[in-house]
Amino acid sequence: MRAIALMPNADISESSDAPAPALALVESGQAAAALDTTLEAETSALRLARQIYAAWLQRCLRQGAYRHNPGAVAALPRAAIDHQLDRALQLAGAEAAELLPLGALQRSRLTTLCGLIATLAGTDKQHTRAVQTWDRLIDLGLEVLQGFADMEIVFAAQRAAHDPLTGLPGRAALQQRLQAEQSLALRHGRNCAVVMVDIDHFKDVNDQHGHQTGDRVLAAFARLLRGALRPYDGVYRYGGEEFVLVLPGATAAQAVRIVDRIRQSVVARPLVQTQAGGLHLSFSAGVAALTERAIASTLRCADQALYSAKAEGRDQVHLESCA
Ligand code: GH3
Ligand code: MG
Ligand code: MG
Repeated sequence: MRAIALMPNADISESSDAPAPALALVESGQAAAALDTTLEAETSALRLARQIYAAWLQRCLRQGAYRHNPGAVAALPRAAIDHQLDRALQLAGAEAAELLPLGALQRSRLTTLCGLIATLAGTDKQHTRAVQTWDRLIDLGLEVLQGFADMEIVFAAQRAAHDPLTGLPGRAALQQRLQAEQSLALRHGRNCAVVMVDIDHFKDVNDQHGHQTGDRVLAAFARLLRGALRPYDGVYRYGGEEFVLVLPGATAAQAVRIVDRIRQSVVARPLVQTQAGGLHLSFSAGVAALTERAIASTLRCADQALYSAKAEGRDQVHLESCA
């Protein structure tokens, strides 16, 4: 905690040789320990990388410009920034896959920066080349700082888009996906099915086993859905114990068969274990085809099919009757 609290003031005063707080903590090994106690660890790791970088850059600029000895100060913080970047990307997991090039970009710019600082140190400060190097150093330094800030924004947006209980994206992401799938369907005639899924008698789980067990059921059910489908199929938490599946390439009739197989696998074995034994559950589902009609209408038709599956006794998959 201490490390994080100190970071925002991590700068170096012109009159002192004392390491900046961020660098001092990295050098003393306290920063990593402090990070482990933070909740949003991946963003904290990234923020720490940026703050170490900012302090390091200030130190390098001062030493490179006036003291002709940038190499020694550059070495340790560079490794610390890399370490925090690794940590942030690793903690963010597969979701950060598309951010990895951004992480790689930061690294290659850091390498370039080190080279510029070394060049600057070895150049006559009055020379035109020194002035050009200096300008480039400042431009690149600001660019890297902006890059770190951009990564933080992307991380925050990713976290906000995912439901923390199930790890699944929510309604906003569903809406975007359906819009994208609908244009693909219209342009290339590709099929896409939308499935509304609702756990049967879920309220009883909460009532009989407690809310925590209910939460475990939701997380296990989300994992089961995700694991049963193809990587490019979408699984979204629509609300409470309701989920929406987006199955590109599947006709509504194919989707009924796919989802019915999942239904059979759900009823075949307990979803979670409790002190009272395994908890068996079922779900009902309604399937609709994604067509040129409004997305809200497609969802409504899937919901009507779900309603009819419930009305006819639950534990079944129904095809829409709107089409
Ligand atoms: P049906 O078969 O008709 O779908 O019955 P149901 O009991 O599943 O549906 P109902 O809508 O009556 O109850 C849903 C329950 O889900 C009520 C609500 O308290 C619970 N719920 C919603 N979100 C959460 C959550 O995040 N965690 C837990 N534990 N319960 C939740
Ligand atoms: Mg419901
Ligand atoms: Mg339900």
